[in-house]
Amino acid sequence: MSKKRQLRFTMMSIALTMAAIVLFLLATLVDSFSTYGIPMMAAGLVLLVTSWAIYFFGERSAKPAKEEPKETVMTVIGCKNCDMREERAFVQGDYIFKDMGPCKKCSGSSYIKAIYAVPIKKE
Ligand SMILES: [Zn+2]
Repeated sequence: MSKKRQLRFTMMSIALTMAAIVLFLLATLVDSFSTYGIPMMAAGLVLLVTSWAIYFFGERSAKPAKEEPKETVMTVIGCKNCDMREERAFVQGDYIFKDMGPCKKCSGSSYIKAIYAVPIKKE
């Protein structure tokens, strides 16, 4: 969903809340409306609930547009000669057994030992 549409949802929600407040005020403060007090309060309540619903659903439907990654991919680099082990974030072009050049520890040949995904915890 576009930001414009989300803004429209928020504006609609605010407008409905304002209308509800006006109804509440009219029902309580203006004497001539006192006979309609209860239906007006009820209408105000409906408007308020509707505005919350709009806000809630507007927010919720806006979320999937963000496309948050669900997992992070890690690459494990190992060495053929020693026990060097290094982990770093996956980089495009990484594949298992890819030669990674000289080892940092023993200058033997290092390579990609494994590639694995870690799910990102939801907060
Ligand atoms: Zn090594």
